[in-house]
Amino acid sequence: MTTGQSPRRRDRRRAVRVGLAVGAAAALLAVAVVVVPLLLPPGPRPPFQLPVPCGETWRLGTYPGHDDYDVDLFPTAGEAWGRPVLASHDGTVTVAGINGSLGGRTPDNPKGPRGRGGGYWVKIDHGGKWETQYLHLLEPPLVRAGQKVVRGEQLGRVGSTGNSGAPHLHYEQHRGWEKVETWFDGSPSGITQDDTEYSVTLTSNNCPAGGR
Ligand SMILES: [Zn+2]
Repeated sequence: MTTGQSPRRRDRRRAVRVGLAVGAAAALLAVAVVVVPLLLPPGPRPPFQLPVPCGETWRLGTYPGHDDYDVDLFPTAGEAWGRPVLASHDGTVTVAGINGSLGGRTPDNPKGPRGRGGGYWVKIDHGGKWETQYLHLLEPPLVRAGQKVVRGEQLGRVGSTGNSGAPHLHYEQHRGWEKVETWFDGSPSGITQDDTEYSVTLTSNNCPAGGR
């Protein structure tokens, strides 16, 4: 060798080169795994069903200041408190916890202090950048973040936690970064703006697989 470098110094240079190569590979992998999926267009709309049991009829409403496309569900028969809230479609739970604050509205104290935000809530990622949200649940969700769920699986029970006037289910469908009109059983709900108070009535076809 005529370079005059000590073997130790060459080793150090090689270690730096290897480190840079590993860093570059990690950066490329991060771009491939994180950035590329963000740029892909959303997939087709999943065949969402109403988030309530098969055969039940619910009123879907909105009111001024709610937010375009947001839907509040109230049963047309029976008490709202404690009714099962079901997954609209297969997916992975991404959030199961508290949004804002719970407040103190319970079946025993329905006019208790109002909370903030969504209260107990669940968010499900259905793939293809589609997501559903379920707010104001009565109790901690029955599912946890990271859990896979199937359509019709119970997520929780209807309540009035968070910023809620009366027991109901606040529900949303999202595509990519935006809220979109909710569709159920292959048809748009017609809840598209919050300029006035209006509602539609629908019957759930969120029935056990093979039972249709
Ligand atoms: Zn609402």
